[in-house]
Amino acid sequence: MAGPSYRACKQCYFVTEGDTCPRCGGQTSKEWQGLVAVVDFEKSDIARKMGIAANGKYALKVR
Ligand SMILES: [Zn+2]
Repeated sequence: MAGPSYRACKQCYFVTEGDTCPRCGGQTSKEWQGLVAVVDFEKSDIARKMGIAANGKYALKVR
């Protein structure tokens, strides 16, 4: 699921390929686990718990 080039934002958990998060501008990390695809954040329990307010791919844990 997670390719070696993917990184996750330390602030909002958004998964991206860049060094900085395109969503919040935060720093991204290669050290992350668990990929969650949020397709309907308004109905997703995980999105609510993580404070996600947009659809997309997110990491469960980011170090
Ligand atoms: Zn972010």
